[in-house]
Amino acid sequence: MQQLFTIFGNPVSHSKSPLMHNLSFRGLNHNGCYTRYRLEDGRQLRQKFFDLNIRGANITVPYKEEAFKACDELDPFAQKVGAVNTIINREGKLYGYNTDAPGFLKAIEEFKETKRVLFLGAGGTAQSTSMVLRDAGYEVTLLNRSEARLKRFREDGFKTYTFETFYKTKDRYDLVVNMTSAGLEDESLPCPKEILDEVIPEAKACIDVIYGKDTPFLKFAKKYHKPIKDGSDMLLYQGVIAFEYFTNHKFTFEEIEKYMREAF
Ligand code: NDP
Repeated sequence: MQQLFTIFGNPVSHSKSPLMHNLSFRGLNHNGCYTRYRLEDGRQLRQKFFDLNIRGANITVPYKEEAFKACDELDPFAQKVGAVNTIINREGKLYGYNTDAPGFLKAIEEFKETKRVLFLGAGGTAQSTSMVLRDAGYEVTLLNRSEARLKRFREDGFKTYTFETFYKTKDRYDLVVNMTSAGLEDESLPCPKEILDEVIPEAKACIDVIYGKDTPFLKFAKKYHKPIKDGSDMLLYQGVIAFEYFTNHKFTFEEIEKYMREAF
């Protein structure tokens, strides 16, 4: 019987996930179909899951925390970060996972001998990725526009700064990562230009989690002739890991990646 999968979010019309997953279902000859579902109210997520008889789903902005609450069982990492982007229905119980963070970790693997990472931004994506990076041995520092979101990171033992307190720290970072939504739908930089002028020359590479777009941050990094990378691989890898859950680890990472990459 065909299994139904979907992405829940609002908006979802721009999402690449249906194409990514359907290419892999077809390529691997697995009887699955992946759709998209614009959810007006995150509290309906659990009920919709059962009403539509969905086998597995991805959850995107702004419902990753609602998805966390909707699950019966959470994997330890999702539990730790408080955000779920992948849910599987196993015999009427919803199991939640977070594949964004391991996806990001895999996406930066190519930058060898990097240890010190500066995150510009302290939202939900920074929350899960900072944990996964620290577990993998990286040192993550967070720089955010405003103070409020930094508190949780400080309590978790991360070094944090606002724009005002960052100046003249003279710390060096191997990777500088735009973890904000600055540049997604506007032309703004994630932090004042003066800070970028301080940290980018010392960095080995600059990464943006926004994908499919030459963001102002990446354009800025190019002026310093730094290697750059957008968020496409992060998106791809979080999808591959989700697909592994969807299909109960029936296929290898490489097999799934081969077909999913055709979406890019
Ligand atoms: P959140 O809404 O949780 O956090 C947004 C963060 O961006 C906050 O730190 C906020 O600062 C900061 N910010 C927003 N606008 C500006 C601005 N103009 N200048 C400076 N800082 C700004 O977002 P998410 O963590 O969910 O998402 C962040 C980005 O990650 C998005 O662009 C999203 O598209 C991308 N993403 C990419 C994925 C991929 O697979 N490639 C997966 C998941 C997310 P403040 O606290 O001051 O408001």
